[in-house]
Amino acid sequence: MSIVAREIHLKSRPHGLPTAADFTATQRALPQPGAGQLIVRNSFVSVDPYMRGRMIDEPSYIAPFELDAPLDGASIGTVVASGDERFPVGSTVTHFSGWRDYALIDAASANLVDTSRIPAETYLGPLGFPGLAAYAGLLQFGKPQAGETVFVSAASGAVGSVAVQIAKLKGARVVASVGSEAKANWLRELGADAVINYRETTDLASALRAAAPEGIDVYFDNVGGSHLEAAIEVANDFARIVLCGMIEQYNSEARGPRNIYTAVKKSIVLSGFITPNQLHLWSDFARDMATWIEAGQVKSRETIVDGLDNAVPAFLGLFSGNNVGKMLVRLPA
Ligand code: NAP
Repeated sequence: MSIVAREIHLKSRPHGLPTAADFTATQRALPQPGAGQLIVRNSFVSVDPYMRGRMIDEPSYIAPFELDAPLDGASIGTVVASGDERFPVGSTVTHFSGWRDYALIDAASANLVDTSRIPAETYLGPLGFPGLAAYAGLLQFGKPQAGETVFVSAASGAVGSVAVQIAKLKGARVVASVGSEAKANWLRELGADAVINYRETTDLASALRAAAPEGIDVYFDNVGGSHLEAAIEVANDFARIVLCGMIEQYNSEARGPRNIYTAVKKSIVLSGFITPNQLHLWSDFARDMATWIEAGQVKSRETIVDGLDNAVPAFLGLFSGNNVGKMLVRLPA
């Protein structure tokens, strides 16, 4: 069987918001898998905001994407050719060679998953890295206590929607920030006690103060900039701010919180973290998250875009709020 894979490559390093011209689709004939290798037909590939950072050629916690080479990222698919008996043809695996329809991978980089009770998509959302980010960020660094107020930004996204639900499970009062009324309605369904549509307010700090009259004790920051500044303004003394991501600045110049000195005066703890540093939590996370999902205590949604040719628009859509829940690209079986 000879397989020709279609891959999306980075053609040029974007400045500001990327455009379709920064990417190209290429074909590659895959060799038969050698010993310890697999060919996987991807069924869903993930597009994530952090990938924007990898398009910049600078040192970071993860290597930059190379030009004229396939982009990569989380993916799930079916093994169609196997050089490792632990991964028989027909088994479902997660791996990191996304942005392509077929991937030749080392079996050591694949994880077998069971899709009989939990759908494949979930392994790229609440049971994947976005779920780990919410779990580790909130429980290791935010540490919400029952009765405290937790503020979550980009709350309808893959990470934010899970963070909101974990905070509710821990007995917190949750204030969520989102960019549309439809998203606000979903957040209320998930249990958020107050929701701010940040696009409808010119004074985020006042809106946050009104939504959290007793102040906020934990801020789970996915946005940075304006949201971080408002959160510092409304935070209580000894608040914990979890720096998960800063999507507001991924395509533009950073706008730091102008009131950072307030963090000193309020003894606020700001904790940045990245999931690669939290992998020691994976087995606890996977057990707890699967339990919550199966009990209906953590719900998820996906925004699914069909076809590899739509992977770039799906990725760009993250920066204008086109997704509710996890943004995924579905590939034909
Ligand atoms: P996502 O929330 O599913 O998608 C991005 C969302 O961000 C959009 O739907 C949009 O929703 C919102 N957004 C985009 N531009 C914005 C802006 N300028 N201001 C406010 N909101 C904006 O993405 P995700 O995968 O869950 O990631 C969320 C954040 O977590 C990102 O910052 C990401 O980099 C970070 N992250 C960090 C880690 C880690 O290890 N630290 C791991 C995973 C993700 P609205 O309609 O509400 O604007």
